[in-house]
Amino acid sequence: SGLLAGKRAVITAAAQGIGRAAAEAFQREGAIVTATDVNEEKLAELSALGMNVAKLDVMNADAISAFAAQTGTIDVLFNCAGTVHAGTILEASERDYDLAFDLNVKSMFRLIRAVLPGMIDNGGGSIINMSSVAGVPMGVPNRFVYSASKAAVIGLTKSIALDYIKQGIRCNAIAPGTVQSPSLEERMKAQGNYEEARAAFIARQPMGRIGLPEEIAALAVYLGSDVSNYTTGQVHVIDGGMSL
Ligand code: NAD
Repeated sequence: SGLLAGKRAVITAAAQGIGRAAAEAFQREGAIVTATDVNEEKLAELSALGMNVAKLDVMNADAISAFAAQTGTIDVLFNCAGTVHAGTILEASERDYDLAFDLNVKSMFRLIRAVLPGMIDNGGGSIINMSSVAGVPMGVPNRFVYSASKAAVIGLTKSIALDYIKQGIRCNAIAPGTVQSPSLEERMKAQGNYEEARAAFIARQPMGRIGLPEEIAALAVYLGSDVSNYTTGQVHVIDGGMSL
């Protein structure tokens, strides 16, 4: 039983943060989860919970083709992998820009190309792409490269949603505001004064708190499940009021 009963789901960047919370929530809702990441040590913890795990670098096209061939047909793909570059355009190098677009956007192109034919043959599927409020409903200071890449995710999402709508494929994006995660902790520490940085991140949300990965995972469960069958191509903002 559960909202995702019997659905075969693949999640990228599932070792920690939102991806991990989603892997656990998907499993609780009855999905057959394959959790992927580059961090094998943390993947082992998910393996211990009974999930299939696979080391998968979303920037490696060959590895993705091999992974998809081995995994076979799936019902739900959650493209969660992404990295945050801090800085303005004048603080961004060619390398920063290329890395963000490779990891945050092209990874989705690769994964979706690999699993979409199987989904179509199977009569449908749900694809969930991780975007952000940054660059989508709003601008965020010092997030030039990040915002550009997360906005690109929206064009990719809408295009796939429209092109495959008749084949039963749905493709939606999630746009979170600030969410508790290991990388958010690192961003706070990197600012020097941790308490001050944390207070500033909290202050971004009119709700006066940082979101929990489990709250984003619940939205991913909804989008992966048949409960959301009437929505496709949309940006689902979940941000404690940050973009209001
Ligand atoms: P995180 O940044 O703490 O963890 C990211 C995970 O990605 C790690 O487990 C890491 O090993 C994995 N990873 C890194 N490079 C990889 C690669 N090449 N291939 C596969 N996996 C790789 O987790 P998070 O903060 O929850 O972020 C997850 C997603 O949510 C990202 O796309 C991020 O941009 C997005 N997001 C996060 C927030 C937030 O405030 N935390 C807000 C909006 C959007």
